[in-house]
Amino acid sequence: MDTSGGTPGRGDDGAGRPGPAPGAGPGSPEPEVLCSRRGCRAPATWVLVWNNPRIHTVDRRKTWVACDEHRDYLADFLGVRGFLLETVPFAEFGG
Ligand SMILES: [Zn+2]
Repeated sequence: MDTSGGTPGRGDDGAGRPGPAPGAGPGSPEPEVLCSRRGCRAPATWVLVWNNPRIHTVDRRKTWVACDEHRDYLADFLGVRGFLLETVPFAEFGG
């Protein structure tokens, strides 16, 4: 019997590569902040800083938070009333 040319297993056991443990993951340490738009459950990614000079002193700063989808809506709402001071990314908003 001629058995030359055979290629037995090459050592590749197909174990795959290391990866994250299934089903486990570090939970977010902070509760998620949701968009201020009524009925929206999306996480906030923007902070809109505003002030209504009729009812707030000028140094008072109110904030709304918005998801990507509603940032324009809320900014527009405040903007047309002249209340909007600035829009900053949520991650850059120090509080
Ligand atoms: Zn939203």
